[in-house]
This record gives sequence, C-alpha cells and structure tokens, in this order.
Amino acid sequence: MNRKFMESEMKKATSHLARLVHIGSFLRGNPVVMERICGNKNCRCVLEGKKHKSLYISKNKDGKRKMIYVPRQLEDEVRGKLDAYQRIKMLIEKISELNYAQLKIKKDKKIV
Ligand SMILES: [Zn+2]
Repeated sequence: MNRKFMESEMKKATSHLARLVHIGSFLRGNPVVMERICGNKNCRCVLEGKKHKSLYISKNKDGKRKMIYVPRQLEDEVRGKLDAYQRIKMLIEKISELNYAQLKIKKDKKIV
C-alpha cells in the first residue's frame, strides 16, 4: 500500500463513516425472518402450507438475546438501519486497519 492510496482510502472511509454517524439512523442487531401459523384453520398458512413470515430483530444485550418484532410497514426502514450499523462497523474496522498500516510504516522508518 502506498501512502497516497492509503490517504485517499482513509479520506473515503472517514467521510462515509461521518455521514452515517451524523444521520444517526442505525440499529445494532441481526434481521431474522420467522415463519408461523396464525391459528385460523381456513387460512392459507394451514390450507396451502404457506406460513406467515415476519421480520424480527435479534439483539444481544448484556449477554441476553432478545427478539424484537418488526411490523410490516416498518420493515424497509428497519432493514436500512440494520445495514447502516453493519456499514459503520466495517468502516471503523477499515480505518483501524489503515492506522495499523501507518503504524507499521512509521516503525519501519523509525519515525517517532
Ligand atoms: Zn394464517
């Protein structure tokens, strides 16, 4: 990795991260689609075996896993926020790796 490339990667990652953080629309958790039978004997879930699908967020907090139901009309919004969190995590990891690469360069050059 040369310095110019690293600097431009750093700039891209930090401005993308800043944008996502500034918007503040993110949720930590994983989307889980669960299937169920509703209880109506005449429903397609029983008659045709087409179970109802619902989105849940699987969220770990303090070592406990919680499942949070997401109403249909909020699914797109929630999925967008779950994705944003993952992107933020990836960008932080990328910036950290770039800093490790810089550290190595400085050590090799003995710049203090
Ligand atoms: Zn049903």
